[in-house]
Amino acid sequence: MTITIEHWIDGKGATDAEDGRFGDVFDPATGEVTGRVPLGGTGAVDRAVDAARTAADGWRRTSLAKRAQILFAFREIVAARRDELAVIITAQHGKVLDDAAGEVARGLEVVELACGVPQLLKGEFTEGASTDVDVHSIRQPVGVVGVISPFNFPAMVPMWFFPIAIAAGNAVVLKPSEKDPSASVWLAQRFEEAGLPPGVLNVVHGGKSAVDALLDHRDVDAISFVGSTPIARYVYERGTQAGKRVQALAGAKNHMMVLPDADLDGAADAAVNAGFGSAGERCMSISVVVAVEPIADELISRIRDRMGSLRTGDGRRGCDMGPLVTAEHRERVASYLDAGVASGAQLVVDGRDVADVDGEPDGFWLKPSLFDRVDASMSIYTDEIFGPVLSVVRVDSYEQGLQLINDNPYGNGTAIFTNDGRAARAFQYDVQAGMVGINVPIPVPIGAYSFGGWKNSLFGDTHAYGPHGVHFYTRGKVVTSRWQAPAGGVDLGFPGNS
Ligand code: NAD
Repeated sequence: MTITIEHWIDGKGATDAEDGRFGDVFDPATGEVTGRVPLGGTGAVDRAVDAARTAADGWRRTSLAKRAQILFAFREIVAARRDELAVIITAQHGKVLDDAAGEVARGLEVVELACGVPQLLKGEFTEGASTDVDVHSIRQPVGVVGVISPFNFPAMVPMWFFPIAIAAGNAVVLKPSEKDPSASVWLAQRFEEAGLPPGVLNVVHGGKSAVDALLDHRDVDAISFVGSTPIARYVYERGTQAGKRVQALAGAKNHMMVLPDADLDGAADAAVNAGFGSAGERCMSISVVVAVEPIADELISRIRDRMGSLRTGDGRRGCDMGPLVTAEHRERVASYLDAGVASGAQLVVDGRDVADVDGEPDGFWLKPSLFDRVDASMSIYTDEIFGPVLSVVRVDSYEQGLQLINDNPYGNGTAIFTNDGRAARAFQYDVQAGMVGINVPIPVPIGAYSFGGWKNSLFGDTHAYGPHGVHFYTRGKVVTSRWQAPAGGVDLGFPGNS
């Protein structure tokens, strides 16, 4: 059965599609079309922004205490129904159920942070800055926020943004990925069940036309984007040209350096977990293992052993790894296996034999693959593959490994595995990436910090959630006040402080 996945605008479902166009939504584990989603354009976006603009005015006047209560109720509803959301995610993205539940839990961390909005929005007060003059600062919402999210975390990435934007008094128009759009609608409906007024969180489906309509709309004040680097750059340039504040989180090529003194079993576990979790479709996946000699042979042998026990299959059947998101993406990722071999890398494990996959034959299957003897000139090294393909680059020293990582144009996350505290400390200081793990492979910061990369992994200067999120969704205002009549009479001079 094919369902129609509606927009959610002003508290109601809608199906307006630009030129009547709909997109197919697949179950990646069966290959079947399970849904059709309207591809909205200017019409749907205009309606959603109008609803958001109207709702924003009332919402910003809602007390912080009331906002916190609604956020708390939303947190409780989503936590209680987490498994239901995980099923929706798995059915459209393909990741295994545990992983889907994990992404909901990480998204809830940000809701939990946002529940503390009275604390987060506290200003500063200076009594007696000048004679009888006090000064205080406040932060106010920017207005209407557009959130544009990628396919790989259909619940968590939207939850990086809308809870804090809404807690701060803004209204939001969320444009999720058209590949797995249902999680966003589900979240918006639950938020309204928790008491959020209609229009404060709207969901519009679509692709480029919907994104362009948000970027150009004069009533959208800020854009939070997450996706691939070329689109992030485009969104940043077009959005800022239209006068908006924009944060655009982008693609990645994350390296994990393993020093000879590291616990090799721990490092092998980490490489496999972070390389193949969610079929490598994570912006914080480990894509490159930098093995500092002489341990490469031993490390590769341990990684290969662990790969042998991974079960790929339908995410609802208790497997370790699910399918890729679409047939097209599966073909693109598989093409890198040929490209790697052609460029001289050694294919240690080839994931293309999918005979033993625990799933339907038409699912978008590709099992984990491992390359050894990769170098920086090969496309398997330079490109973000975004699939279950792990590359090992052998280096002779820590310095050579650090240089490799710093020369890479991406700088999202990175990790070092070592038992040497001095080396770890030097790495954290010198490495050019926004998020660093020390014996931790996917260093996704907790909600109280902020998430973001360097170099081509982020455009703009503000990271997601945490203190940066609060800052991004608010504007500062400073109030200088005096309640005593000034003593000096008429004086056209620039007032000094006394
Ligand atoms: P994508 O860039 O294809 O799409 C992201 C969003 O942009 C979607 O909502 C999509 O509809 C929209 N879009 C697509 N083409 C567009 C166009 N031409 N013009 C305007 N909008 C367009 O990314 P994806 O494939 O959905 O997600 C995977 C990418 O996201 C990877 O590169 C991954 O590294 C990145 N990602 C980054 C982070 C991070 O925090 N840095 C987190 C998650 C994912």
